[in-house]
Amino acid sequence: MEVAVLYHDDFKKHSPYPYDHPENPARLDMALESLNASRLINSGNIALEEPPKGDLSIYTKVHSPSYLRYVLRTAESGLEWLDGDTYVSIGTVSALERLAGASIAAVKMVGRGIAPFILGRPPGHHAGIKGRALGAPTGGFCIVNTAALVARDLSRLGRVVVLDFDVHHGNGTQEIFYDDPSVFHVDLHQDPTTIYPGTGFPEDTGRGRADGTKINIIVPPHSGSDIYMHAANLMRSIIDVVRPDYIVVSAGFDAYTHDNHFSSINATSHFYHEVGRIVREASISGVAAVLEGGYGVGLEKGLPAFVAGLAGLDNPIQDKFLESGITQWEKYLSGLKRLARALKESRTSISDVVLMAIEDKNLLA
Ligand SMILES: [Zn+2]
Repeated sequence: MEVAVLYHDDFKKHSPYPYDHPENPARLDMALESLNASRLINSGNIALEEPPKGDLSIYTKVHSPSYLRYVLRTAESGLEWLDGDTYVSIGTVSALERLAGASIAAVKMVGRGIAPFILGRPPGHHAGIKGRALGAPTGGFCIVNTAALVARDLSRLGRVVVLDFDVHHGNGTQEIFYDDPSVFHVDLHQDPTTIYPGTGFPEDTGRGRADGTKINIIVPPHSGSDIYMHAANLMRSIIDVVRPDYIVVSAGFDAYTHDNHFSSINATSHFYHEVGRIVREASISGVAAVLEGGYGVGLEKGLPAFVAGLAGLDNPIQDKFLESGITQWEKYLSGLKRLARALKESRTSISDVVLMAIEDKNLLA
């Protein structure tokens, strides 16, 4: 499977200048540099491509028209804060139009057997129907939810799994699809009692006909590579049971050890490479990925490992496998037990897969 990295300089026009902010244009420079340093771009089956501009109105498939009008109106007057975390700037509209074009290009590429990775910004998985989602304190740097848009388009063609491994819960994505049984949302994130946005509990499994299609896997602070590899295996087993036609990856790299100051997980390149590989090898019709978070070393080491895995290449990153302590394992397994119980109540056989994953770990111990 070929991988197309969709990038355009317009993605850098959304800018917090003159303020310092972790979600800034330099993130994309970091990501591109790391892909080049790992010799991944324009080598073998990975190409760098510029997406066209698109019409912002396509985002009404996942956001309310009044929210989109509010964003556009606010961005017109230059740098403005939608909330304490989330800004818009004069260049935001150009960046969003390019994301809209990238999402259309991505869906077409999936149809041609190419795996697109939208290397754009601002990120999106915290953006719900009207912006801030599920009572979150802020929009968490996110304006429009591109992964959700791609997932909605692909859900017209078949069953979709959104796989979100950003360290934060994709509360926007959960809100958008909470009643939609055609989109499974599997979200691996730091225990919401310890981190923004404070949502994404194992008990939140979807509503009505969609009950049992939303799967929140939580990990305690200071979880390491071993817990993350276990979670990757669990995600693979869930994909095997769900048998989706398409997978959309909300690819955030902020669980990478020491990526930033607002999360405290010690994932390493092993995990990101493995997820890329799992998604590539799942017997499905197509894959698309969208950049979410990642603010430092996660972009340098997690991102190229993921892209390499997706392209069927060896992990180009050499970093240390970090072990979790026994307390982290106990908390992680108790989260999985809660998940298995909640899914059993939803009458989905995914609960058996979760129970098996817990059993596997106990056999290893
Ligand atoms: Zn994040």
